[in-house]
Amino acid sequence: MKRAWSAKNLWERSPAWLKTVAGRALRAVPLPLILGARFRRRYRFVLDAQRWPAERIRAWQVEQLRRILSRAQDRSAFYRESLRDAGLDPRDVRSPEDIQALPTIDKQTLLDHLDEMMTQPPSASGADYVTTGGTSGTPLSFYINADRSAIEYAHLTAAWARVGFAPGDTLAVFRGRVVEEDRRGLRHHFDPVLRQHFYGNFHMTDDNMRRYLDHVRTIGPCFLHVYPSSADALARFVRRTQTSPPPNIRGILAESEIVYPEQRSRAEEAFGCRYFSCYGHTEKLVLAAECEQSNDAHVDPLYGCCELLDDEGRPITTPGREGEIVGTGFINTVVPFIRYRTGDRATYVGDRCNACGREHLLLRGIAGHRTQEMLVAADGARISWTAVNMHDDTFDRVRRFQFHQRRAGHAVLRIVPAPGFGEADLTRIRRHLAVKLEGRLTFDAVLCEDIPLTGRGKATYVLQELDDDSCASMLSTSSRSS
Ligand SMILES: [Zn+2]
Repeated sequence: MKRAWSAKNLWERSPAWLKTVAGRALRAVPLPLILGARFRRRYRFVLDAQRWPAERIRAWQVEQLRRILSRAQDRSAFYRESLRDAGLDPRDVRSPEDIQALPTIDKQTLLDHLDEMMTQPPSASGADYVTTGGTSGTPLSFYINADRSAIEYAHLTAAWARVGFAPGDTLAVFRGRVVEEDRRGLRHHFDPVLRQHFYGNFHMTDDNMRRYLDHVRTIGPCFLHVYPSSADALARFVRRTQTSPPPNIRGILAESEIVYPEQRSRAEEAFGCRYFSCYGHTEKLVLAAECEQSNDAHVDPLYGCCELLDDEGRPITTPGREGEIVGTGFINTVVPFIRYRTGDRATYVGDRCNACGREHLLLRGIAGHRTQEMLVAADGARISWTAVNMHDDTFDRVRRFQFHQRRAGHAVLRIVPAPGFGEADLTRIRRHLAVKLEGRLTFDAVLCEDIPLTGRGKATYVLQELDDDSCASMLSTSSRSS
């Protein structure tokens, strides 16, 4: 990322010493105040709008679509052409379905046409450059509004409010952050302003997990903020060792990977609280979060427009049918994503939730998004690919890559170079990965012309060919994701 102006971004990027000093002073200040007026306004708005009737929601979406489409028409050569070809004038949009006149786009469209899709020069202020792993082993880079974090966090925390979370509540975070050992040798770092305790998700050995949970016991009422795979590691540990779980955990907030039903029930059983999952992506197209009354996912209609399309590109309106999630985001105005095929799939449930009465699009069984691919460290601990994944320039000028692992603690990183790839790129990849892997997994990088897809035609980041028992059970879990 090149720039970040939002308060939350700036804070997260501040040096540790500054956080410590400023944190002491800011600890008493309510978090919504620190996150700023944009956050507070949006948070309140999202909470209020949850109960809007369908017609009001649709009218609001039409307004957003006109805004995004008009900007795209005025400033992006790519969209100007596709709007003209479709005979669609943004001012004529009367219903969210009107955008179906436009063709869908996908990752390949972005790889081929990013420059023409942009509505401002890359050098203009207010744009961040981000890279996402996406779903198919091909890194994807694009630009996005630098001030998105406050808005995004407002939508996310408004969803978390369904299970009792309020901005400022303490989080125990088991996600991708690299955490150094503190004076006691514990991989723990506390951010006093965001009230987040970060634990070393790369080091989930039994000994460490015991220490993490012992520490969690001391931080007061809190929510676990997890990757499904890290929550599962903790839940298995609690069950296997018959450890009593910290009684102060009020809920488990899962994100960034698909959720397997057995992992949900294992975690709820182990920790005795609600497991609540959210679906979203770096592209900021669709945000879906569970209902407080069921595990069905409510699509947030203020965040973007979500369509569920069958294999012929027709909208799915029959409950129980499955299709691809196609999103038009309202947040990214630097590179509008209009009718973007995410490659993720879900089952259509309906347009109104019988459990809570909200008039939201309901999805079930969201799949295909960031499967839980694992690397195995020398000490046997599993390292989630999601945690290693780099949302920066690490894999610039790389067409595809994949770790191939045959023994614990070592892997071969296969790289299919893109034009312009050179020694400096290889050095950067080695350096960035070394920081995240900390020597627990060594790897040899090899350049190759292509990486074969799996038997089911899926590209994966980790080709796991370890044959010990623990990995066999891990692989049987992973295979259900495709
Ligand atoms: Zn509901």
